[in-house]
Amino acid sequence: MSSEVTTAVRRIVVLGGGSAGWLTAATLAAELGGDGPDALQITLIESPDVPAIGVGEGTWPTMRATLQRIGISEVDLIRECDASFKQGSCFDGWLHGGASDRYYHPFTLPHRFGDVDLAGAWLQGGREQGFAESVGAQPHLCDAHLAPKQTTTPDFGGVMNYGYHFDAVKLGHLLRRHATTVLGVRHVVDHFTAVRSHENGDIAALATRAHGDLEGDLFIDCSGLACLLLGQHYGVGWRSEKGVLFNDSALAIQVPHADAQAPLASATIATAHAEGWTWDIGLPTRRGIGLVYSSSHTDDAGAERALSAYLERCGLAQAAAAPRRIRFSPGYREHFWHRNCVAVGLSAGFIEPLEASALALVELSAAFIRDEMPANRADMDLIAQRFNDAFAYRWSRIIDFLKLHYVLSRRDDADYWRDHREVGTQPQSLRDLLQLWAHRAPSRNDFYRNEEVFPSASYQYVLYGMQFKPTVRPLRANQLAAAEAGMKDVPTISRRLLGAMPRHRDLIQHIREHGMPAATS
Ligand SMILES: Cc1cc2nc3c(=O)[nH]c(=O)nc-3n(C[C@H](O)[C@H](O)[C@H](O)COP(=O)(O)OP(=O)(O)OC[C@H]3O[C@@H](n4cnc5c(N)ncnc54)[C@H](O)[C@@H]3O)c2cc1C
Repeated sequence: MSSEVTTAVRRIVVLGGGSAGWLTAATLAAELGGDGPDALQITLIESPDVPAIGVGEGTWPTMRATLQRIGISEVDLIRECDASFKQGSCFDGWLHGGASDRYYHPFTLPHRFGDVDLAGAWLQGGREQGFAESVGAQPHLCDAHLAPKQTTTPDFGGVMNYGYHFDAVKLGHLLRRHATTVLGVRHVVDHFTAVRSHENGDIAALATRAHGDLEGDLFIDCSGLACLLLGQHYGVGWRSEKGVLFNDSALAIQVPHADAQAPLASATIATAHAEGWTWDIGLPTRRGIGLVYSSSHTDDAGAERALSAYLERCGLAQAAAAPRRIRFSPGYREHFWHRNCVAVGLSAGFIEPLEASALALVELSAAFIRDEMPANRADMDLIAQRFNDAFAYRWSRIIDFLKLHYVLSRRDDADYWRDHREVGTQPQSLRDLLQLWAHRAPSRNDFYRNEEVFPSASYQYVLYGMQFKPTVRPLRANQLAAAEAGMKDVPTISRRLLGAMPRHRDLIQHIREHGMPAATS
């Protein structure tokens, strides 16, 4: 056995200082770093010449546990990253584009989910009200621009489930400061130039311009879309998903609020247009807005016109500077962990920002590496195989879920929408699920792995939000009675919360000025 195989894994080198690099370095350092004899030494290399992508401003609720375990307080996040609370997504115009075409995918599960079948009762009833509004209070709070927590709710606690909206560049600064000053991550600002290899093909060191060779036992490739180690050095292939999800371009812009005291949205607003869709994210001091489109369907000039029209509709056209164009190739790597190198973040893959799953995959990847940190090189290939299996599965679940939004659309104003519905562009796994869901609601039997990326409730919100009409077996009388009783709770709970929750903007201002109670462990 060569010495590399038996060597303990101690030195971790992260290439890249975007959100993926810093989240991964901090996740590892918080629990595996330090001064002890077994502690890992973590080095992060960041090029002074290549900026981080600087977008990625919407997260899932998972970010709360991630930050808490890293040791960053929610108050610091709110104060330093211009952060606000995100309670889910609001989809505008996705079904047919007419008036009243709007639904929510909130983060909070339907009332008494898993206990009584509200979806069954809603499907069986008159469906006068939208699904999400009928099964939970969160859409009502979002409509009223209220917060998911109160001034007395502790750090990371919620009355409703929530994630964040934040300034991605400022998040990078906060993570960097915390990782380097509190968690002991070594930060090397230098340009990586070449890989030095062991005889067996493992990476031995990364050569840099000014700091020489930085040696390591495990290398984490967070170099962004360039994917310098896994892609460029090892040549691990790219699995394109352009034939399923066509978007490959985005125009991004930041604009001040029309009125500094304007109500602050606590959902990402995703609006469909003939040319693609816009995201609209409300931070306390500005809005982050962007158009996502397919270059095969819309040229850049058409995309700019669509973005301008949206800004005009929002009364923001005057304040808008030129948007920034971002190109990406939708897809992911054939595998993610190869030899002693694992890709996390954009280097592992990127599809499109609908449902904001990219940072959640970074969190899951970093947590997997932390929890399964190989004791030595001999264990690494087994762990790599598990990682590759887990994340290939997650990517395919994300693709199914994103594609669902397009497959259910009845928009007929552009080939973009019609092509997305073509059966040949739909993954077989999604078609199978849709066949089953024609006769029953999505259930936990459909998604049974640990840490599924989207629970069955998420599929219910999208399916019924987009008026998918299954023919389900009627509930038995006792099931129906229990579900109807559950459904009757919702207006009562909603009224109580509408009276009790603070305005989102007011809560953010309060936290900035006074902080919030510490989390109880
Ligand atoms: C339009 C758009 C919208 C998005 N919206 C969301 C969202 O709402 N929610 C979400 O979760 N995600 C979103 N994402 C994805 C999100 O932006 C990324 O997942 C996240 O920012 C992580 O990026 P990264 O760190 O992998 O790459 P990057 O930010 O590109 O970082 C790459 C790093 O590698 C370094 N590097 C590159 N070359 C070298 C070199 N030679 N030597 C040394 N260092 C080098 C760079 O300096 C940089 O620090 C969005 C993405 C796009 C494109």
